[in-house]
Amino acid sequence: MREKDHMPIRLEPSDDLINRLEEILTPQFVSNSLFEKIKNTLDCMPYDLQKEQLAFAVAMPGSAKEISEILRLANEKKVSVFVRGSGTQLAGSSRPHAPGIIINTHRLNQVEFFEEDGFFECGPGCTCADIQAELEKRNYFLPMAPGSRIIASIGGLVSNNTSGHLIDTCLGKPGDYILGLEAVLPNGDIIETGTKGLRRPAGTDLTKFFVGGDGLLGVISRIRMRLVPNFRKSFGFAVFERLSSLAKGVQRMYHEKRPMPLFTEFMDKNTSKIAFDIKGMAPPDGSLIFFVSIGKSQRDASESLLEVLKSYKAENPMVAEVIEDHETWEKLWSARELIGSYIQQQMKSYSISAEVVSTLSRLPECMEDAMTFNAGLPVLSELPLFLLGHIGALTMHPAIPLPK
Ligand SMILES: Cc1cc2nc3c(=O)[nH]c(=O)nc-3n(C[C@H](O)[C@H](O)[C@H](O)COP(=O)(O)OP(=O)(O)OC[C@H]3O[C@@H](n4cnc5c(N)ncnc54)[C@H](O)[C@@H]3O)c2cc1C
Repeated sequence: MREKDHMPIRLEPSDDLINRLEEILTPQFVSNSLFEKIKNTLDCMPYDLQKEQLAFAVAMPGSAKEISEILRLANEKKVSVFVRGSGTQLAGSSRPHAPGIIINTHRLNQVEFFEEDGFFECGPGCTCADIQAELEKRNYFLPMAPGSRIIASIGGLVSNNTSGHLIDTCLGKPGDYILGLEAVLPNGDIIETGTKGLRRPAGTDLTKFFVGGDGLLGVISRIRMRLVPNFRKSFGFAVFERLSSLAKGVQRMYHEKRPMPLFTEFMDKNTSKIAFDIKGMAPPDGSLIFFVSIGKSQRDASESLLEVLKSYKAENPMVAEVIEDHETWEKLWSARELIGSYIQQQMKSYSISAEVVSTLSRLPECMEDAMTFNAGLPVLSELPLFLLGHIGALTMHPAIPLPK
């Protein structure tokens, strides 16, 4: 490396940094207000923000060209740059760790449809929910649905390569649908990757470096995704006395090669009770598993659902049925979506939660482990444990409410 590559990162803004940013973006889209800086630095996990970590400025570019100019300026001034969607990433990657310029992508929120070519393009700042709504109007489906979808940006999801817990095992990750990207490299060069055809390249594919790249390799300024036709859906559930039977039912579903549901969720008996009580429904007398089967026609979806139910029925559930009534499904689903905050409300606590991911062959044992997650731990072992999660993706979340 050359000597100049080692120049120290600046901890104070140079006098004209803000002016230069304002020249690029106009003053309207540059902020150095304390409020904006804190808002764009904190993520959704609690932590103590140090004053020295605060950004010099928050920049809100409206085009790849503006991003490019910001990056060239940052190189010239030797200041760090952090890319920010909505700051909902849970593992700290959207959290700046040094002062610098935060590039907030929310102005890049245009969506354009190219239905004749089978794809759409959007800016990284569109929220997942907005894109979902635009696609649904045209009878397409967005294969991404994290719990944060109302505010999470599509740029953040692509940079994390997560489709959310709902969908992975059935439809895959965002990277499976992204045909190409426009990205701005750290030196300010603007590049295009991928294809406008529907066949993604074999071998080395530059797009893959940015999908899941956590913003390390550049700023994604435009995303091209394949259009996925919408599905018909059928809903089903089963109640098990023992969680281990529920886990064996999931194993069977895989081993018996049933059509994979779009997603399969579960809640143990305690968790189901809270969810059902809040929705004014009679709680099940055991642990609940519920799932959505999809198909091109309603008949396909219903047939797939009946196939899946066969695997659960083989494990002697207390009940295993189709949910015919859409309203019941909606209530159940909204209870599941908000269960984390319901537990906190009911227990008047903050809850801490872990993520346990099992291999298929060890799922029942792993479920046992997750149920005793707090055993032997000081303080935590005396508190109740709630178990829920995305069991179709072999993922469980033991949650322990900590009294405030
Ligand atoms: C309530 C809740 C539920 C969640 N549910 C799930 C879930 O079910 N499954 C799951 O996998 N995850 C889930 N998540 C986490 C999920 O991964 C994030 O919500 C989402 O991926 C981040 O989107 P964001 O816009 O907030 O990105 P940010 O947090 O702002 O950024 C995430 C990362 O991407 C980078 N980045 C953002 N935009 C760009 C860009 N344009 N170019 C380059 N890099 C960029 C950032 O620098 C950062 O490293 C959940 C989070 C919350 C708060």
